[in-house]
Amino acid sequence: MNHVANHADIVIVGAGPVGAALALGLQDLDVSVLLLEANSPEAAGHRRTLALSYGSRLLLERLGAWERLASPTPITSIEISQQGGPGRAGLSAEQADVPALGYVVGYGNLHRAFADALRAADAEIRYATPVHRVAGTQSYGAVACRSDGAEHWITARLVAVADGGAALAPVPRWRRDYEQWAVTADVSADAGHGGVAYERFTPQGPMALLPHDDGFALVWTVRQEQAERLCGLADADFLASLQEQFGDRAGTFTALEARSRFPLRFAFANPVGRRVVYLGNAAQTLHPVAGQGFNLGLRDAFELAEAIARDPRQLGSPAMLQRYRRGRRLDRLGGSLFTDGLVRLFSNDRVPLNWLRGGGLATFDAWPSAKKFLLRRMMFGAAG
Ligand SMILES: Cc1cc2nc3c(=O)[nH]c(=O)nc-3n(C[C@H](O)[C@H](O)[C@H](O)COP(=O)(O)OP(=O)(O)OC[C@H]3O[C@@H](n4cnc5c(N)ncnc54)[C@H](O)[C@@H]3O)c2cc1C
Repeated sequence: MNHVANHADIVIVGAGPVGAALALGLQDLDVSVLLLEANSPEAAGHRRTLALSYGSRLLLERLGAWERLASPTPITSIEISQQGGPGRAGLSAEQADVPALGYVVGYGNLHRAFADALRAADAEIRYATPVHRVAGTQSYGAVACRSDGAEHWITARLVAVADGGAALAPVPRWRRDYEQWAVTADVSADAGHGGVAYERFTPQGPMALLPHDDGFALVWTVRQEQAERLCGLADADFLASLQEQFGDRAGTFTALEARSRFPLRFAFANPVGRRVVYLGNAAQTLHPVAGQGFNLGLRDAFELAEAIARDPRQLGSPAMLQRYRRGRRLDRLGGSLFTDGLVRLFSNDRVPLNWLRGGGLATFDAWPSAKKFLLRRMMFGAAG
């Protein structure tokens, strides 16, 4: 008879990139870890592209996932501009003394690299096991899940929820619906990208073109009606709209594939409860404008693993969880407020603001120490 364990020291809900990073961070400790994932092993997760910061590369190396990642595309410089207004700023890897400011990878590739690393680490994962309830008392946490048509409760000293903010996340302390959607696609252009990432602010919302393989990964923020319209256009019409909005600084757009759209919101929650901790998008969900969401979630996972390694006997205790919460506060708050501030500042077309923003961009461009400061925060987080 098959015996299915109903207890582990740590139960991780969600084997997305953040849950997987936590499991890898715990691999050398003397604690039992069980990962529960709603999807099947073949599901590749979201159809989107992620910009990983240079700091995330260093963490992924330590977790044994970086070398398994198929062809990440380096970002060697970033060009920032606003539509219909003056001012421009550039950031480069040279200014930050690093080989690349970051790397662009497909979510599916990242997912495969983590799955590969988890297999090599012999991690225990139960796929097709959606958790539908999380509970905690003073002495243990528990999750209710369904597998093989039956309901099970599994207990743990600590439950780590990394469900991407799907349904198990706590009620956020702050939340905001941006009333914007991100339309994403892979776009080819007739000019090489040269490692340049473009960030362009428009009154509807920011748009980013990230160098990816031989072309660009597009993240185009628009209102919901426009997202629906863009997703319904023929390829040639979509490319013409993109060219009109973006201009020709990245060349002429020639082809496109893999269009998707995502609603955008901001949520920031208390990351700890009784015997429960929330990580990644379950703790904070950010606008993709600055490409910070996963980078922040990876640091959540890494620092939780370090907090557990410091004293495994304290695993899941209120003292350990409060220490973790305090340790993560500056980075979580800094990343969230920076991202939200950018969206508020740039998502409108008031003429005086246009000129102020233009002046701000030009001043920033001529101010090397401000650039160094910002680059460091973007690569290593607010506490870095
Ligand atoms: C358009 C767009 C572009 C973005 N670009 C960037 C970027 O450039 N850089 C960056 O750092 N971030 C970016 N982000 C944010 C990034 O995608 C997220 O921060 C990241 O995916 C969060 O990882 P996660 O593991 O917390 O959640 P997810 O990636 O959502 O993974 C959650 C996992 O939990 C599983 N799950 C869900 N519910 C359950 C359940 N009940 N039981 C069991 N399993 C469950 C899911 O199947 C999934 O495998 C972007 C986001 C968007 C929308």
